[in-house]
Amino acid sequence: MAVYKDSTFLIECDRPHFDTRFAPGTTVSASGIYRCTCCGQETAAGIGQLLPGHDQHSHPFEFGPACWQLIVLAQ
Ligand SMILES: [Zn+2]
Repeated sequence: MAVYKDSTFLIECDRPHFDTRFAPGTTVSASGIYRCTCCGQETAAGIGQLLPGHDQHSHPFEFGPACWQLIVLAQ
């Protein structure tokens, strides 16, 4: 889970960016912290960068496919 020290640097918002799920290897259009909805691992990605692919982040078959969700949007 993402953590922070000073909450004055974070604000809550309801942008649609947070509702989208991204496949491994997707090029992101928003910089921020992404979380795997399957195992909870987090990664940072900037605009135009790729989310970890299947060869960089995978799960046992029974866990289902990895999927990424934006949890902190960097502005
Ligand atoms: Zn995962």
